[in-house]
Formats: sequence, structure tokens, C-alpha cells
Amino acid sequence: MQKNINHSKNLSDDVMTLPFLGEKSSELFHKNLLKTVEDLIWHFPERYEILNNSSGQKGILEGTYCLSHYKKNRNGKNILQCLFENKDSVFYGCWIHFNSKYPLSTLFKGKKYYLYGTISSFNGAKSIYHPEFIDKDKIDTIRSVYSLPGSFKRKTYSNILDVIFRDYIEYVDETLPSNILKKYNFPEIKSAVKTIHNPKDQNEAMELEAKKHPAYIRFIYEELFYLQLGLLIKKESYKKVKGIQFKINNDLLEDIKKNISFKLTAAQKIVLVDIFNDMKKNVQMNRLLQGDVGSGKTIIAFISGLIAVKNNYQVALIAPTEVLAEQHYENLQAFVNTSECEIDLLTGSTSQKDKALIKLRTSEGKNHFIVGTHAILQENVVFRKLGMAIIDEQHRFGVMQRKALFDKGYSPDILLITATPIPRTLSLTFYGDLDISIIDEMPPGRKKIITFIYSEKKINEVFEIVQKEIDKDNKIYFIYPLIDESDKVELKSAKKNYELICKHFNKDIVGLLHGKLPSKEKKHLIDRLKNGDLKILVSTTVIEVGIDVASASVIVIENAERFGLSQLHQLRGRIGRSGKQSYCILIYSKNISDDGRKRLEAMKKFSDGFKISEIDLNLRGPGDFFGTRQSGLPEFRFTNIVKDRKILNQVRDDISQLLNEDEKFSSPCNKVINKTLKNKWKGGLELSNVG
Ligand code: ADP
Ligand code: MG
Repeated sequence: MQKNINHSKNLSDDVMTLPFLGEKSSELFHKNLLKTVEDLIWHFPERYEILNNSSGQKGILEGTYCLSHYKKNRNGKNILQCLFENKDSVFYGCWIHFNSKYPLSTLFKGKKYYLYGTISSFNGAKSIYHPEFIDKDKIDTIRSVYSLPGSFKRKTYSNILDVIFRDYIEYVDETLPSNILKKYNFPEIKSAVKTIHNPKDQNEAMELEAKKHPAYIRFIYEELFYLQLGLLIKKESYKKVKGIQFKINNDLLEDIKKNISFKLTAAQKIVLVDIFNDMKKNVQMNRLLQGDVGSGKTIIAFISGLIAVKNNYQVALIAPTEVLAEQHYENLQAFVNTSECEIDLLTGSTSQKDKALIKLRTSEGKNHFIVGTHAILQENVVFRKLGMAIIDEQHRFGVMQRKALFDKGYSPDILLITATPIPRTLSLTFYGDLDISIIDEMPPGRKKIITFIYSEKKINEVFEIVQKEIDKDNKIYFIYPLIDESDKVELKSAKKNYELICKHFNKDIVGLLHGKLPSKEKKHLIDRLKNGDLKILVSTTVIEVGIDVASASVIVIENAERFGLSQLHQLRGRIGRSGKQSYCILIYSKNISDDGRKRLEAMKKFSDGFKISEIDLNLRGPGDFFGTRQSGLPEFRFTNIVKDRKILNQVRDDISQLLNEDEKFSSPCNKVINKTLKNKWKGGLELSNVG
């Protein structure tokens, strides 16, 4: 591309059009996602360097130039040593080179210089290798340090930024309403950007680095503001989707009650009231059901689904794994009166023939419940009359599955279920477009699971505990991070330890379950554990989600230090599902890390999923915790959702006030909101129709 000096400037201009950036470096910038001028503006410094900082490794030495000579270093390389002196001492500027005139041609005896660089010691005298000469008026300068592609020169980049600030900054538009700026004393956007790239002094730089300076906070605020607002608007837009007005009356409820074999907890009842109210309205339900592992979410799904069925609609029940889908299929059969209710199971391993048949039945409306994995969404299944979609363990799916339903032209009531309990302010953020119900109570009679931590050396003691439980006819899980042994990592495998466990106990009572087994065999193994001859199930984490075997009283997790906290909590949720005292035994290897130890300690100390997830969030950081990439949620550029919760709360308050006072953002001050919202939400999540 030809550099065109007179072209009209635009923030979306390719970096290529900037001076100092040739074809090669532009390409490099592009590869690093720095494609446009705007990208560079938002590419904030990683940190700041204070040039005359006395405490750090780097610093400025001041002195007059005296003399120079060449020396050979140990590797036979020529070193130019230039001696400088000041009133206290002498120091050297050193250059490793041969036959070069730099910097000799620029040095004058008796003239004062300021040398900047990493200060080391040489024969008792200070020295700086390849120092940078600093102008006298710049010695107090704060230098912004950027992460730049390849070995791109800092100085050149700084020149590029100068050009940007000269020619482009005027095109950066304000994004926040002026009364918000005023309320928090936030700088206006242009000045905030300038401050971040070029802080005026050391204090400002330190405040910026700590992300406590208003120039930085305004971007955190802005990010959260538009995320929240976008989600709320999305929520409003759902309310415009016409829904089915299900009829729910006492006769119907009495009828369903007969199917429930236990007394619902108060929390379960409250949640059901929320759901029933949604179902009765003629707007689409978009509700998220949260509750800790084992709190009894499945029955809620079944009851809600059955109501839809009794209203002559079909219900899709979608689970993240085949094993869980099959379990739901079976439990559902036990729950409903099968003479009046047709249930089909559709997963990836359903035979082609059966698939074709089920699809036909579904399109003709011959079945009522279609239970399965995401195969339901992927295969071109056509529903006759889809009234409700229930997505279990939705955190494993993310938003795309909901979108898939919309894309098919259905607008059933949607119930999302998740066992990842996240702190409430956070769930309001991430699921701000959904209505939320929480089951915050466990079914009665559960005993607190006792968690032990053991070194792998003490496996025999663990076997003793296991033997005692077998004698009581209880069931035991052994969990391993790998299926097969691997040369690459020092982790235990299910297969190898299966053999060990078989040797130690009677092999007839031990089963081996892992993800590579056909799902029929998986199911068969779980059935045998539930009702039959198996006492011990050796497994990988395939059992992590949802598996419900009430008689299981022990879970032994080997290499527990390698599992995430939420995952450990999920695994532990496989036991303690009845009134029996249950035990979770976490076994660590000698390779345990500090964080690994913290996770195990947290597991021992806490059983509440909310508490555990909060610790998990703190240990892992929000990025990993939410897996935003996978769940389709936007990634934060400025915000640390854990640390910035206070700002989040302010944002929420401000937004609710804003929506009260000026719902359409029509006041002159709020006009900026409409435009910015559109800009921010154009990619990733679409405001209109993604669920
Ligand atoms: P999760 O919330 O993890 O999906 P489940 O729905 O699988 O939990 O429920 C865990 C176990 O508790 C199941 O065996 C279920 O039958 C049982 N359960 C659910 N609700 C109650 C209740 N109100 N009283 C007694 N047991 C219950
Ligand atoms: Mg469940």
C-alpha cells in the first residue's frame, strides 16, 4: 500500500499507513492483533519505567566524560569502556563492539552526560552496558513500556504514538455520559487515553500501574457499564419474545405430585413458583437455575417439563454428556407415568436407524420428552411442538446452544441449569440477561461429607477405609487424571490403578470406567454400581457431571493436586447423596505445588459451593474461571471482575437509576449511550436475537 500523506484520517486506518511502519513491521503488528490505529490507541502500556529511579535495577548515572579505552572480555570480544566522573565517584559506560565509532564521535571530554540503563558493578565501579544517553530535561521522564511485536524499537514506537496523538486523538469519541464523568471525577476519554500512555509524573504512573487512577478506572467502569446495560437490554428483548401460556392448575399439580417420592425442600418449592409464574406468562421464559451439587435440581427440571408435556407440548432435555443424558432418560422414565408419556433418547451414539425413527417421531409429535446431548441441536431434528428446552449443566455449553434453538425458529420456554455457583454479584453480571433462581438448601438428612488429605505414600491406609465401607455395602469411586499411563506427564492412570485395586480387593467387585468406552458400557457399569455386584468404580473424570448413585459413600481422588477446585467440588458431589456419612479422600503426589496445596486445604475446610467457587476465582483469576472464550461471554480488557466488584456495584446502581430516569437515553447527556452500545455490541454477542 502506498503511504498517502493527504488521506483523511480514520481510527480504522491500517497501521501500515502510519510513518515509521514499513510493510514487514506492519505485517508483524497485524499478526499481533495490532491492525489499526485504534488498536494501537487501546494498546496500553504494560508498565512504566521511571528513568531516574534510584531503587530499581535500571537508572540514570550522571557524569562528565573523561577518557576511553578498549579491553578484551573473557570471550575475546572487544569492549569499549568510557570513563565518566562525578563529584563522588567514577563509572563506566560499556559497549561490546569492534570497529565502531559509536559513541566516541559523539562524546566530548569535560561535557556532562546522563547515561540510562541497567546498572552493574565492574571492578568496584558502577557500569552500564549499552546505555542510552538521556537529555537533561528528560531525566525525570516516565517511560511507558509496551509489549511490542518482535524486536520492534521502543523509540520508533514512541514516535509512532506521537503521530497518533497529533493526528488521530481528536477522532476518539467520548463513551460515557457527562454526568457520570462528573459524578466520579473521571477524565474525559481523550485525556484519559493520553494520561495512560504518558503519565505526567511518578505518582501518576504508580497509580495507573495499580489500576487505581481515575484515567484507568473510567475504562473499567465503561467496560462494565456497557456489559451490564447490554445484558439488561437483551433481557428486555427476551420479554418481547412471545411465549407459550402454559396452564397450571391445582389438579395438574396434584397429579404430578404423585410422581414425587420425597418432600420437596422449601428452596425447591420457591424455585418452582418462579418457574410456574414464567410458564404462565405469554412471554418466553429465560431462567437460570443455580444450585450446589446435590441440591436437587433434576426434579425441578422434570416437574417443569412434565407440566409442559401435560399442556400438549414437547420438551427437549439436553445434557452435556451421554452418560448424564442416559441417566436423565432413566430417571425420567421412573418419574413419569410411561403409559401416557413417550420419552426418546437421542445422543451421538444412537444408531442411524434409531435416529431416523426418533426424528420422525419428533417431527410428528409422537414423543413428549426428547432427552439427549447436543446431538439434539446438531442433527436436524424438527419438533412438532417444542414448548420447553431444558439445558442441564449449562456452563458446559455456553450461549451457543441457546442460539441454536433460536436459529431453528423455536422460542420455547428455556430453563438453564448450572451447578457452578458463583457469587451473586457476579452471576448478575454474567447472566444479567437471565432471570435467576437459586436452590440454597440441601435435601434433608444429608450428612456433611468429611474430607481427608493423604499423601500417596499412605495409600494402604486409604485402602483400609475403603474396605470398611465395602463391608457396609457402600460404593466407592477411585478417580484418576489419565486413562492410560503417559511418558510425558507423571500422573496416575485409571487403567494401571484399576489393576492394582483389583489385586488388592476382589477383582469381581471392581469396574473400570472411562470416556473412551461406548456409552452402553458406561451405563452398564454405573448400573452395576448402583444395583449390582460392583462395589468400586475406577474412573476418570467422566463421572464428574451429574452422576447420581445414592449408595456411593467414598470418593478417592488421586493426583488431586492436579484438579481444579470447582472440578474437585463437582467430583465430591458424587457422594453424600443419601443419609450416609460419606468421605472424600484427596491424595496428593510429591509434585504438589503451593496452589495445589491451597486447593486441597480449601476442599477440606469448605463444603459450600459458593465459598469454593470464590476461592477458585481468586486462585485462578477470572479468565480461566469463567472460560469466557468457551461460554461466548465477552472478554474483559480492563476489568478484573474479582478485584473490581466495587465498581461493578456502582455501575449497577447507576444503571438502575438511569433506566428509571431516562429509559430511552434521549437526554442530550445520555445520547452517547445509544451510539456506544451499538458499537460495543456489534461483535460477539448480538443484542437482538442471541440467547
Ligand atoms: P443436582 O442438583 O446436583 O443435579 P440431583 O438433582 O441429582 O442434584 O439430586 C441429588 C439427589 O437428591 C438425587 O438422588 C435426588 O433424587 C435427591 N433429592 C432431590 N431433592 C430431594 C428432596 N427434596 N428430598 C430428598 N432427596 C432429594
Ligand atoms: Mg444435576
